[in-house]
Amino acid sequence: MKPAPFDYVAPRTVAEAVAALGDTRRKAQVLAGGQSLILEMHLQRIRPGLVVDINRIPELDRMSVEGGELRVGALIRHAAFETADAVPGPLGTLLSRAVVNIAHPPIRSRGTLAGSFGWAHPASEWCAIGVALDATVEVTGHDGVRALAAGEYFLGPHRTARRPEELITAVRLPLLGERTGVGFVEHRRTHFCFAQVAVAAALTVHDGVIGDARIGLVNCADRPVRARAAERTLLGAECDALPAGRRLPDDHPFARAGRVAAVQDAAPVAEPYADVEYKRQAIAVLVGRTLCEAATDLRARLAARERDDR
Ligand SMILES: Cc1cc2nc3c(=O)[nH]c(=O)nc-3n(C[C@H](O)[C@H](O)[C@H](O)COP(=O)(O)OP(=O)(O)OC[C@H]3O[C@@H](n4cnc5c(N)ncnc54)[C@H](O)[C@@H]3O)c2cc1C
Repeated sequence: MKPAPFDYVAPRTVAEAVAALGDTRRKAQVLAGGQSLILEMHLQRIRPGLVVDINRIPELDRMSVEGGELRVGALIRHAAFETADAVPGPLGTLLSRAVVNIAHPPIRSRGTLAGSFGWAHPASEWCAIGVALDATVEVTGHDGVRALAAGEYFLGPHRTARRPEELITAVRLPLLGERTGVGFVEHRRTHFCFAQVAVAAALTVHDGVIGDARIGLVNCADRPVRARAAERTLLGAECDALPAGRRLPDDHPFARAGRVAAVQDAAPVAEPYADVEYKRQAIAVLVGRTLCEAATDLRARLAARERDDR
């Protein structure tokens, strides 16, 4: 199919883009990487009267570290996160482990992190990391910039707290300290499919005890989920990484957190190849594995630092 007829503008500034989005009768859509929008337009599931192409706005093509946060401009592509040292500390590790699960290289070289927040697909890796880490979505409209907490931004599949006349100008993610270990584990049918279930985790540990736990669930509800009930079960627990490949005992804190996440935090939606029961089982197993990965990551990080200090 071909897209329905539409008008096209390519503004050079954020102010021009916001002005173009202002005429809400035209049902304008922002064109960032185009990796979701163009497909939807071809299928005529989206029929915008106006496409606002933001690719010629240089100020959106910047990534910076400011005040303990990574600020990702709206034109930063997925591929920018493929190497762990693109972003300092454990956050760089987490983003680089997650990004390889997003589609394949051509899509990653065009699609944008902010575009994933704009599209708000429940199976988006970035969006689940955003809610787990308390990211901020910066949106710009006629009245200036609003900072929306990721936890309140997602309202359902492709539904967000962004107003139609607002442009996402950046997404801000907090940097993670050196006592934090991270993990990301994904399960999907084929390499190019969206995740059936994926989990992001960050564990902050002092004297061997977990002081802060962040768990994000991908495709485990109609929107990205922060597994708060599971996180609570981990506070004060010993951070005990098992050797890779060893099955978690049922009474291990990570296994318990997995079961809690599957039952109390997730609200899975059935899919053709994964019913709700299957998804709950996958969540329980994957949360446990991701927490093990985070614990192992922290152990390796601390050992490397000790070596460097000697
Ligand atoms: C085969 C295939 C596999 C894929 N697999 C995955 C996957 O595994 N995981 C995953 O997360 N994604 C996947 N994607 C989607 C991909 O990551 C997209 O790049 C992403 O969802 C949207 O980013 P984009 O920059 O391409 O946005 P676009 O396609 O340009 O826009 C998507 C939507 O977001 C809105 N939008 C974009 N930017 C802004 C902005 N700055 N302000 C306001 N609204 C905005 C647009 O109006 C539009 O509604 C896949 C896509 C394909 C085609």
